[in-house]
Amino acid sequence: MIHAFTIHELANIVGGSLIQTGNSHAIEHISTDSRDIGLGSKSLYIALKGVKFDGHEFTASVYDSGVRNFILNENQASPAGFPDANILAVSDTLDTLQKIAAWNRSEFTGTVIGITGSNGKTIVKEWLGQVVGKIHLVAKSPKSYNSQIGVPLSVLGINAYHKLALLEAGISRPGEMGKLEEIIRPTIGILTNLGSAHQEGFKNREEKLKEKIKLFAGSQYVVYRKDQREVAEMLEGVFSADRLIAWSEHPGTDYTLSIKRSEGGSMILLMKPDLTLYTFRTDFTDEASLENLRHVIVACLTLGMGAEAIDGGIQELRPIEMRLTLKEGRKRNTIIDDTYNNDLAGLSVALDFLLQQRPKQRKILILSDLLQAGENRKVYAKVGSLAQQHDIDLIYGVGENIKLLDDIFPGKCKVYPDTVSLINSGELEALNNDLILVKGARKFEFEKIVNHLQEKSHGTVLEINLNALAHNYNFYKKRLRPETKIMVMVKAFAYGGGAVEIANHLQQMKADYLAVAYTDEGIYLRNHGIHLPIMVLNPERESFSHLLKYGLDPVVYSLPFFKSLAQFVQVEKATMKIHLDLDTGMHRLGFVEDDLLELGRLLTESSFLEVASMYTHLAGADESVHNDFSLSQLDLFTKMYREIEGFLNYSPLKHALNSAGIIRFPNYQFDMVRLGIGLYGIGVNEDTELQPISTLKTSISQIKTLKKGQTIGYGRKGVMGENGQIATLPIGYADGYDRRFGNGVGHVLIKGEKASVIGNVCMDMCMVDVTGMDVGVGDEVIIYGKGISLKEIAGKIGTIPYELLTNISNRVKRVYYSD
Ligand SMILES: *Cc1c(COP(=O)(O)O)cnc(C)c1O
Repeated sequence: MIHAFTIHELANIVGGSLIQTGNSHAIEHISTDSRDIGLGSKSLYIALKGVKFDGHEFTASVYDSGVRNFILNENQASPAGFPDANILAVSDTLDTLQKIAAWNRSEFTGTVIGITGSNGKTIVKEWLGQVVGKIHLVAKSPKSYNSQIGVPLSVLGINAYHKLALLEAGISRPGEMGKLEEIIRPTIGILTNLGSAHQEGFKNREEKLKEKIKLFAGSQYVVYRKDQREVAEMLEGVFSADRLIAWSEHPGTDYTLSIKRSEGGSMILLMKPDLTLYTFRTDFTDEASLENLRHVIVACLTLGMGAEAIDGGIQELRPIEMRLTLKEGRKRNTIIDDTYNNDLAGLSVALDFLLQQRPKQRKILILSDLLQAGENRKVYAKVGSLAQQHDIDLIYGVGENIKLLDDIFPGKCKVYPDTVSLINSGELEALNNDLILVKGARKFEFEKIVNHLQEKSHGTVLEINLNALAHNYNFYKKRLRPETKIMVMVKAFAYGGGAVEIANHLQQMKADYLAVAYTDEGIYLRNHGIHLPIMVLNPERESFSHLLKYGLDPVVYSLPFFKSLAQFVQVEKATMKIHLDLDTGMHRLGFVEDDLLELGRLLTESSFLEVASMYTHLAGADESVHNDFSLSQLDLFTKMYREIEGFLNYSPLKHALNSAGIIRFPNYQFDMVRLGIGLYGIGVNEDTELQPISTLKTSISQIKTLKKGQTIGYGRKGVMGENGQIATLPIGYADGYDRRFGNGVGHVLIKGEKASVIGNVCMDMCMVDVTGMDVGVGDEVIIYGKGISLKEIAGKIGTIPYELLTNISNRVKRVYYSD
């Protein structure tokens, strides 16, 4: 923030009513996240309300950690229990956050660059930050904070000492850019491009473009690429020529920037309006990067930088790994890989991500010098307090300035001059069953550390997008009544996604229940820090003692099963929660109507068994032809659970709907639903808003040139129709790549192009036809994921996505990320 303020000053700026004033601390930090409350009594906490959370629920714990300034919703604000706090009650806390940000912006006298567009916003921002950062003190949005909440938080990160702020703005529906514009008010605007992707939330591309350019309403200059005609026409129709700065591949604009490819890189040739010529060198050769680079060059020129300085900065740019990735390390360590940039805002985001992971023995931070403007001692004091708040047990520092941490974190900090000396010290070998955040600025090459700590893999990975997981969870949550509970099915290794990590994230998102198929699956979760209640669908009799020991709740589905479980629990003099499966038409497991009288008698004499819930399972919720049958199942379920309740003096939870049922029968939520495949991003009906959470990827091992008529693989089933090339991929049926994909049935994507499977799929490998494609050894290959849907490929071999998901072998490494 530009300067500190008191709660009275704030009330004057944003309105609302001060329902209590208990102190006069100046506010220096604003937080909307209860886990990052910053400077204790100097912090202001704003409780925001989202779909999956309500910040008001955390008010008490934030107060306990020392915060004494609050902005709360007027309906939920009460001074009770917070004696010395200042409480400002407002009608809309998000709106208030935005107003404070707008105020902070208005106090800033430096230059603000606002970036929007369909693709490349974050990369242009990060690269521009690096090139300009050599000359100016730059503030920029952490990661891709570009939303209605992210933008105000980014703007609040601008301090008085900054000269330049780089902010990105993203929108998903009409009306949003107007609000962002009031907060950002860019001096210079950049429109990266207009993508062709589906216009979510907008009527068409034109409407979306119109909304986007509202960001530039008050800008002095707008930078854009003239080659995209609709963009150029729209901008030129709205803004006067003296405000527009266009660049193009072709002559006739402010800057002509053409590309010349050369050995191992590219040259960008710049011709200025006065016909002077410059050359910039870069390692990048792909179209998207070259477009982003040219936006960076033009923005730097607009800021008045010289071409030589820009060239120097450009040459140092490297690809950006934007996301935080969770990887399995050697010795049961878990690694969070964030080896790209390192400033305070990014560190705070990464530490929050660390806290969301399931606990391990210790929390370790491996950190390089920060590339952060400001007085070093203050910067590292802030690092120290962040580390403290996030309960870091030990820091390995690499660099010169980071020595300062030694005083702040005495005894818990070991510092090395460079990355290689840390690795060679042997210290890292002591890490065992720890959670390790590796965060370093690019030039420290911390990927060496990650490689050192990481489990080696054979090239095939299943990537799981944790943001998509949260998105899908909320997609269903929004469709439920607020009081309906959610049980998530994490059976079969969470549909192949990895039970522990997924269960942990569900625990974070406050799911109510988990369900697994077998007792062993439940034990595994318990051993890895999962404490949510867990229902076991099909518990074996041999595992009864484990149910007790690990606090797992069995499903009871027949009279003989009830009797043997009751006998066991009675002998143990224990009590147990159970779930009753009622068979209303699935005809798999479960009590039938005729069992109920006897069941009632057994329940009455077994008060040590507590019925936690009763449920049934629909046999055809995913198809409308079965609607009548499904409704008759739901009716029978209602009749049966009422009869059972007659034997009990309490009322257990009732539930019936799976993913498809939640969408099709919203009136039958009862007390809980059982979410399965939908969470993993597979829509059973037309739930197009779901996002696939997993991508199965591998890379090319070898390329072969073959002649027409030569055969490929076992049984010589693949035959070259013409002279051409094949690529061998390290994935086979033992990894879960179904043998039925062989001989042209399946295809993969390489650089966005389809390549068909040729010949039989082998146990550990398969071959694809890459004739005429520009591909090489090591290129990434998508088996399924973006551009190749699981539903589509499952259909090709006559199965369903469930089977393909659960068939992915355990030897395929799972990697989790959050973008
Ligand atoms: C697997 C399962 C579900 C979840 O089904 P989806 O179709 O994946 O949503 C729900 N209930 C029971 C009893 C299940 O076995």
